[in-house]
Amino acid sequence: MKKTLLDYEYSNKTVLLRCDFNVPIDNGVITDDKRIVASLKTINYLISNGAKLIIFSHLGKVKTEEDKLKNSLYPVYKRLEELVNTKVYFSKVTRGEELEKLARNLKSGEILLVENTRYEDYPNKLESDCDEELSKYWASFGDIFINDAYGTCHRGHASNVGIGKLLPNGVGYLVNEEVSKLDVIMNEGTYPFVVVMGGKKVSDKTLVIDNLINKCTKILIGGGMCFTFLKAKGYEIGKSVIDEDNLEYCKKLLDNYSDKIVLPIDIVTDQGIVKKVDDIMPSEAGFDIGPETIEVFNVELKVAKRVVINGPMGVFEDERFANGTKELLECLKVNNIKTLIGGGDSAAAVNLFGYENDFYHISTGGGATLEYLGGTKLPGIEVISEK
Ligand code: ADP
Ligand code: MG
Repeated sequence: MKKTLLDYEYSNKTVLLRCDFNVPIDNGVITDDKRIVASLKTINYLISNGAKLIIFSHLGKVKTEEDKLKNSLYPVYKRLEELVNTKVYFSKVTRGEELEKLARNLKSGEILLVENTRYEDYPNKLESDCDEELSKYWASFGDIFINDAYGTCHRGHASNVGIGKLLPNGVGYLVNEEVSKLDVIMNEGTYPFVVVMGGKKVSDKTLVIDNLINKCTKILIGGGMCFTFLKAKGYEIGKSVIDEDNLEYCKKLLDNYSDKIVLPIDIVTDQGIVKKVDDIMPSEAGFDIGPETIEVFNVELKVAKRVVINGPMGVFEDERFANGTKELLECLKVNNIKTLIGGGDSAAAVNLFGYENDFYHISTGGGATLEYLGGTKLPGIEVISEK
């Protein structure tokens, strides 16, 4: 078990907190502040326990001088000020006298937000390459490091791993919840363990498939990726998405795991017509799984003890092709199946259809969760000390 924010005393200590404030901003206006709001639990715990709190976050990518203007954390600073009950300061620089002075004058219970850590990526990728000097410089401001930026945990950057190596450390509430829930669902050893794979491409998910296929009872494959499997089985798939580079990979999986892999038997075409998989015309593309497939999949899901979903079953953004994804979620909900949703678009689908409070866990870290499900150790978690 990793150390958490609850394992330290904060009175008069300076805490460096890595948050994920990578929010969508349109013309200087935050269009969705969910990530800021989600961080408040950790922030409020730290300041109410007397910490002087210095917060770091990235926002977008910084590859040019113009990116800096576009990706300033200033709007986040203004929003954070509204959301907390204490004085918040903002350092327009990620390094230098302004930051040093603000940090020096910070009082117990106050917050200092530092400008986008990726300002250090231009002209040299100091943040993203985990530059040692930069890590030491930032770490010199604090006594304790808390990582609450789950979505960045698959990156070994200066502001998470670099600082983390140099200070006593722990995870915040958000990271702790993500990691505990993922650990439980992956390791609790209950069966049937059913994995649902979907989304666009096989290539995005080979690591996840490789890691989960040995652990699960059944793997249900829908979304765009099922067509590479269907093609590998010799079906005409028309204009459906295909991942030629992974045809051989799919063939091999089908040979080795024929008892585990469940593929669609019918699909919905781009014209909205339900077709058996052996009736797809060269001019057609499959955009969703069909009603018979939904039934077959639901038979497996209903009896599952735990389910991991990674990727939607169809082009759910279009109502005409949302049914497969929706029906599977509905089945899991009404049967009260312990379900973890991983993947940015899968989580978006869950929210779009109003299931945000119905599952065991909806992971917020797209890339980080994919890597975790793929069996990769996340550097942002690994750097945190064990209890
Ligand atoms: P996640 O983010 O949950 O891991 P992906 O990024 O792999 O999921 O895939 C999500 C995208 O896959 C969605 O934008 C969806 O429209 C698309 N998709 C799903 N099914 C199909 C399909 N049959 N053909 C083309 N695109 C699809
Ligand atoms: Mg995605």
